[in-house]
Amino acid sequence: MFVEVIIPLALPKNYTWAVPEHMQAAVQPGIRVEVVLGKNKRYAGIIKKILAVKPEAFQPKDILNILDTEPLLYPQQLQLWEWIAQYYMCSEGEVMQAAIPSNLKLSSESILIWNEERSYDFSDLSDTEYVIAEALEMKKELRLSEVQQLIDSSNTYPVIKRLIEKGVCHVWEELKDKYKEKTETYITLSPLYHDESKLADLLNNWSKAPKQMELLLAYLHLVKTEGEVTQPQLLKKSNASAAQLKGLCDKGILISEKRAVDRIRTLPKNIQIDFTLSEVQEKALQEIRSGFSEKPVCLLHGVTASGKTEIYTKLIEEVIKEGKQVLYMLPEIALTSQIIRRLQKHFGGYIAIYHSKFNPNERVEIWNKVKSGETKVVLGARSSLFLPFKELGLVIADEEHDASYKQQEPAPRYHARDAAIYYASLFKANVLLGSATPSIESYYNSDQQKYNLVKLEERFGQVELPQISIIDIKKVPNKEKGKIALTPALISAIDTSLQQKKQVILFQNRRGYSPYLICNTCGWIPQCQHCDVTLTYHKAKNKLSCHYCGTSYPVINTCAACGSHDFTQKNFGTEKIEELVSEAFPDAKIARMDYDSIKGKNDHDALIKLFEQQRVDILVGTQMVVKGLDFEHVNLVGIVDADGILNFTDFRVNERAFQLMEQVSGRAGRKDGKGTVLIQVSNVHHPVLQFVKEHNYNHLYVFELGNRKQFDYPPFTRLIQVTFKHKEKHIAEEAANIMLLGLKANFGTESNGPAQPVVERVRNQYLWEILIKLPKDAKRINQCKREIQQQTIIIQSNKRYRSVTILPDVDPV
Ligand code: ADP
Ligand code: ZN
Ligand code: ZN
Repeated sequence: MFVEVIIPLALPKNYTWAVPEHMQAAVQPGIRVEVVLGKNKRYAGIIKKILAVKPEAFQPKDILNILDTEPLLYPQQLQLWEWIAQYYMCSEGEVMQAAIPSNLKLSSESILIWNEERSYDFSDLSDTEYVIAEALEMKKELRLSEVQQLIDSSNTYPVIKRLIEKGVCHVWEELKDKYKEKTETYITLSPLYHDESKLADLLNNWSKAPKQMELLLAYLHLVKTEGEVTQPQLLKKSNASAAQLKGLCDKGILISEKRAVDRIRTLPKNIQIDFTLSEVQEKALQEIRSGFSEKPVCLLHGVTASGKTEIYTKLIEEVIKEGKQVLYMLPEIALTSQIIRRLQKHFGGYIAIYHSKFNPNERVEIWNKVKSGETKVVLGARSSLFLPFKELGLVIADEEHDASYKQQEPAPRYHARDAAIYYASLFKANVLLGSATPSIESYYNSDQQKYNLVKLEERFGQVELPQISIIDIKKVPNKEKGKIALTPALISAIDTSLQQKKQVILFQNRRGYSPYLICNTCGWIPQCQHCDVTLTYHKAKNKLSCHYCGTSYPVINTCAACGSHDFTQKNFGTEKIEELVSEAFPDAKIARMDYDSIKGKNDHDALIKLFEQQRVDILVGTQMVVKGLDFEHVNLVGIVDADGILNFTDFRVNERAFQLMEQVSGRAGRKDGKGTVLIQVSNVHHPVLQFVKEHNYNHLYVFELGNRKQFDYPPFTRLIQVTFKHKEKHIAEEAANIMLLGLKANFGTESNGPAQPVVERVRNQYLWEILIKLPKDAKRINQCKREIQQQTIIIQSNKRYRSVTILPDVDPV
């Protein structure tokens, strides 16, 4: 017996191993096996297929161990992997790498991390397990190679697998940032006293240690008001010492346990829908339903605050009642916190969140609950697509237009919305794409009758869309040379909002303080040593930093070209806007939301809650404030620098600019319709501004479709972009030219380039790109992909180009 096994590497194809006689009964697709690759690299791979015949060319090695008794996933997930690998031009191993939580992957490079939540009671472990657990407890982390020295190496993987399952450790992969878990000690009442009469007995017969009794009473009080009690909370409330608390725990009355802070709470499984749809919403829902009976994909084009989430909620309810599962995707983790609160209210314990910021144990926990069918609804960012759904009934891709659905680095460079449409088809499940500003591609698909289209043209409660005013910054008297960040009109609008006790959102697409410094004497601009970009000044950190590679530099006071000390800061980022607003409104509470101010997912939740509770008046932020958030009291949105949005060099610039501005505007006046949006811009005649002003998506669509047609861009063609990276500029360029030459015979007219992107060098690598615009013809597209792959092999087999990185990107965004 032979098996084709996927291992988490970028191999050109899957390899075959032989199955020893005594393991054959246990072998089936979807289970993990331990295999050796090359001399001594070991991996836990996944069986894709059982092969009856021996490969002709070579003698396969035996698999070493079988790790699972049950498949880790279902055939549909393996099919999805295969499709993604084929469509997005990567290996199934790379898809596996992205798809599976690290705890389920093992390789010689893996590192085992001691689980801080684990108790030191090892009585549930076997002797071999104990040896490793003890070493882990002492050293906190062990490489797999170290483990192999501790125990008989033929047995390592099965033992490690059991240790993970018993919660002793989790797996971390090298080279990535190490996961640092925030744990907290939680206190609970021993189940012995959950019975009220037993508890009363205990309290009535209390004789010694009055302080401990006080502690217990404080606990009982806290648990009522807070739901959960942490040790510091309890000690503070009861004014007791840790020793006194320990006394109570030793008596078996209270239990103290370490837990990850962000561990999701388990809620009861019940459905509670406490709203009714409006007439227009109800009509839309009917249309979606009847649409699904004809076509599996439906695009819901609903203006901002039209109640798309409410419609999703109704559909989810129906699917749960049918006993099926729902995948609810959002483009960014940041967005999940508000929606999850809304959904948990309705679906309690039926719902789980899943994304890459969760700790490895938690991810496996959710993986298993989805697989068993216990979790009915998963809310997650794009990687939630890979969960092993048992019976998927519906996929919702909210904010379907959002570019974050596309993974950039590393491979698989997949588009989660598009891959989800394929995935859903394997279950005959429906897909609902929702947006106030649909992508041109999706709208075109509905135009072409590929998708059903349903519209929601008014806000819930017939609330008006916000009024949009354009402020011409050219007409503002210039104080600073160059640009002015906050015009008098914007300042006075903010002032009015604050007086009305309303909230304000200011959107600026750049983080940091000022995007670059320039020498006033000779014009020299500090640049990153590794990338071809200017450095951004961050005032709070007092650093210059490169937003491409992350390197930071001390602030430069002396010009490297002429020695002058006289610099000007050019332009402005969110940090500077925050400062300017604070100066203008010293009494207002101001917060900033961008990748510098928001580190973990908890920071984000906390800030959103503060803003919801009106404990922040003005929120300054980047893209992060644009998306999907629902705040009641915002009546003013300011777009600080629209030129920065309109001046990108990308064929999607108009679409993106419209989406950004319409979405951020959509945060204003959601409940009472008295919202205003001020757009500061110098290019006041840009057509997109007119569309935004009228909230007219259809005009944007028609305008944009004309452009795309004229220049052969999607949705009329399909794009494949191939990027060549090398530390020598001309080597990368040569490699790109070789590929172009190779493609010339069959795809000469469709191929363009090579060209350098706007940023020519990133992390010391020069970039060259070729762009292939293909007709929408599956045969030709597949042929082109094959030729690109062949050319890649040819180029990389030449010694001169071996170290050129060649990255194909299908449907780049
Ligand atoms: P969208 O997702 O389309 O931007 P939301 O679903 O966030 O819109 O709805 C906007 C606001 O209106 C939310 O606060 C939501 O709770 C409220 N809302 C929408 N529909 C209803 C309804 N049928 N009943 C009660 N409130 C609703
Ligand atoms: Zn100078
Ligand atoms: Zn850099």
